[in-house]
Formats: sequence, C-alpha cells, structure tokens
Amino acid sequence: MKAIRVDQAGGPEVLKLQDVPDPVPGPGEVLVKIHAAGVNPVDTYVREGLYPRKDGFPYTPGFDGAGVVEASGLGAERFQPGSRVYIAGSLTGTYAERALCLESQIYPLAENLSFEQGAAVGIPYATAYQALFSKACLRPGETVLVHGASGGVGLAAVQLARALGASVIGTAGTEEGRRLVKREGAHHVLDHRAPGYLERVMELTEGRGTDAVLEMLANVNLSADLSILAHRGRVVVIGSRGKIEIMPRDLMSRETTVTGILIFAATPRETSEIHAALNAGFEQGTLRPVVARTLALREAPRAHEDVIHAPALGKIVLLP
Ligand code: NAP
Repeated sequence: MKAIRVDQAGGPEVLKLQDVPDPVPGPGEVLVKIHAAGVNPVDTYVREGLYPRKDGFPYTPGFDGAGVVEASGLGAERFQPGSRVYIAGSLTGTYAERALCLESQIYPLAENLSFEQGAAVGIPYATAYQALFSKACLRPGETVLVHGASGGVGLAAVQLARALGASVIGTAGTEEGRRLVKREGAHHVLDHRAPGYLERVMELTEGRGTDAVLEMLANVNLSADLSILAHRGRVVVIGSRGKIEIMPRDLMSRETTVTGILIFAATPRETSEIHAALNAGFEQGTLRPVVARTLALREAPRAHEDVIHAPALGKIVLLP
C-alpha cells in the first residue's frame, strides 16, 4: 500500500510517499481502509522531532482519520467488515491507504457525516469537549471566548458551547474566518489581529468579563486573557508556541484559574465519555465538522506548511 513515511526529523520535505507492506491486525486490533486522514498541528511537531517518539523512525504520521473496517484480529469483535468508522489514534499512522488501530481507537461514523468530516473529529473535537467541560467546567448561560475559533479545535468548541446554551464569542484573523465562526454558532466574532479587539469582550459582557477562555495561542494572548476574565473565570491553555510574561495579581484580584490540557493524557474512561457525547451531537446535527480543504496524500508536505502558516477555515484533510 501507499503511505507517507518519515525517515528522520525535519521540515515538511521529510514527508515521502512510499510503498510499504499492508499491515495485518493482531489480537484486539482492527485494520481500517483509510478514506480520509486529518492533519493536526501536532503532526508537524512530531515530524520536527519536538515530541519524542517511543518507536523512533521511520514512521507514518497521523492520529485522525475515517474509513471502512477491512478486517479484525482475534477478540476484536465490535466492528463488522464494511463498518464506517472514524479514527482517534492509530498504531501505524493514518497518512496511508490502511491503518491498524486498537478497537478502542475507532468509533462508528454517523450516517450524516462524510469520511472527510470523520477525519476532522479525533483530536479537535475531543480537545474542545475536554477543554470546555472537564477543564473550564462551562455552564449554560455563561460566556466563553474561543480565542482562535476558525481552526479545527475552535470551530468544534463554538459548536459545542452553542449547543450547551452558552454565550459564545469567537475570534478569527480573516474576514472569511469570522463569517465561518459566526455561521457555526458564535453570537459575536472579533478580529484577533485588530488593535484593542479584546475591549469588545468587556462591552459584550456589560463590564463583567468572560467566564471562560479557550486559548489557542497562549504565548501571545495569556496576559490579555487574564484582564478580561469575570470573577472566578477560567482560562484553558490549548495551544502555545513560546513564552509570555503575566501579571500574577490579575489572578488574585478576580480569583481566576489558568489550566492546561493535553488531549493525549485523557483517561480511557474520559475518552469513551467524550466520544459518546460527540456521537450524540453528530447524529443530532448540533456538531458538523468543517473541512476547509482536501489534498491528495502525496501533498502531505503542503498540508503541513498550510496547517501552521495559512489562515484557518476548518480542517485540512488528506485523501489517500
Ligand atoms: P488550526 O486549525 O491550525 O487553527 C489555529 C487557530 O489559531 C486558528 O483559529 C487561527 O486563526 C488561530 N490564531 C492565529 N493567530 C491567533 C492569535 N493571535 N490569537 C488567537 N488565535 C490565533 O489548529 P487547531 O487544530 O485548531 O489547534 C489550535 C492549537 O491548539 C494548536 O497550537 C495546536 O497545536 C493546539 N492543540 C493542542 C491540543 C492539546 O491537547 N493541548 C490539542 C489540539 C490542538 P486565524 O487563522 O483565523 O488567524
């Protein structure tokens, strides 16, 4: 089969399309024919060697995907061959024509979702869910600022928070991104490149501040986030690409909390709860993964450039 292989850490050019043997499912494993693979920023950090890989090199990237079950190993009986599934984690990597997964890493794909949408679920939706409900403990009627709402995690958070009954403020860096964030459920949208844009958060909350912030770029925004929180407000750091200085007094004066999330650290129980809740949303239509663009598998280097540098409008998805 064809698969993207990475022989050594480096830039996008180390992603090479190669022929590799078809994987064979062992006990408890499921072989999925991949119809679409989701591209996440973390795939680029792993490629660059920023996250140590316990199995070293070479490897096939990709945590997320969607496709059809082809075969199951001994004791893996939950899915029949031909079942449509989405993948949240894989043993062999999803940037390939086939991937091996533990049975616990695959979930039924709702009938109303395409394979491309299924590939947009794993990391982004699970992260948004965990950040909103386990970390920020957001309640109906509260206000949340999704700081970076036009990407995979942000759009998922907007849809989830809106369905909960929260008041949702989302930010994006482009006009098209702001239209998308509004369409997907934000009550208000702001431009995170405009000077003084966070003052609007205080106006929109009648001076009270926001109850929660989901932060996609903490090294730029954390200090400002602390100044727009309501009493006992919570910031969840989801993404950060560097250092930042903050004023600890901001935490004291409003009794606020800053916490972080690592979706790979979710427990098995949390993970199964998250996906049960997400599937209910997909079936009911409150959650609708947004695919910005599809690219052929061989264009993985371009996808890695774009997921870091291009303005976000939902997910980038690779098609084997
Ligand atoms: P993505 O699809 O590439 O989206 C990136 C988002 O960041 C876009 O909405 C982008 O908006 C926004 N952004 C850019 N400049 C910003 C600024 N100055 N202030 C606020 N937002 C800004 O990425 P993603 O998949 O949503 O992931 C977002 C971040 O979370 C990444 O850093 C990723 O590594 C991290 N992440 C962490 C976890 C975890 O477990 N901790 C899990 C998933 C993701 P525009 O393009 O419209 O400017």
